[in-house]
Amino acid sequence: MKMIFLGPPGAGKGTLADRAKDILGIPQISTGGIFRAAVAAGSPLGLKVKSIMDAGKLVDDETTIELVKERLTQDDVKKGYILDGFPRTIPQAEALAGFSTVDKVINFDIPDSGVLVRLGGRRVCRMCGFNFHAVFNPPPQEGVCDKCGGEVYIRDDDQPEAIQKRLEVYRAQTEPLINYYREKNLLLDIDASPMIEEIVVSFKKVLGL
Ligand code: AMP
Repeated sequence: MKMIFLGPPGAGKGTLADRAKDILGIPQISTGGIFRAAVAAGSPLGLKVKSIMDAGKLVDDETTIELVKERLTQDDVKKGYILDGFPRTIPQAEALAGFSTVDKVINFDIPDSGVLVRLGGRRVCRMCGFNFHAVFNPPPQEGVCDKCGGEVYIRDDDQPEAIQKRLEVYRAQTEPLINYYREKNLLLDIDASPMIEEIVVSFKKVLGL
């Protein structure tokens, strides 16, 4: 199953992808995660994208497309994959169509108010990338990931100004993908406002699992 998770920042794409990869036995490919790892490693890619990410803007299409194209040549995606955070623009979607088929697109439906609550409290493990929430799902020991022992921190792009910018970018550049994929009969909508357990149930239901 080749699947795209589409939705605004903070909709819970990463949290559901983390569950869905075990349910479906396919890897999660998070472009944001790959960029954050590059920043942490101080690689040339990381140096190029850090300020763009911190400002809540999108990395250029060419760089992002190349990254995903290369990732999809690896062996672990033979049975399928979950693209979490890609494509985010129409040119990215058109490029993807040139090097892979897509079976389903899950559209995470959530109002801006829900996004603000999620992102305002989001805490992330610096090592394994697991998403916590300061109120709804805090790590048992403050600042420490109970999955891997890594440091739990607030992403630079989860600061209020960057959140606002990311929402604007989503509405202008990514939201048009909803119609793009609906017209191709690939889109499945899920209500992304409830807590994760309920979202997992909706996800299985729309896939007929
Ligand atoms: P995410 O973790 O998906 O919220 O992504 C974090 C940041 O990485 C975004 O705000 C962008 O700066 C960058 N990024 C992730 N995916 C893409 C993409 N498909 N196109 C452009 N930039 C991206």
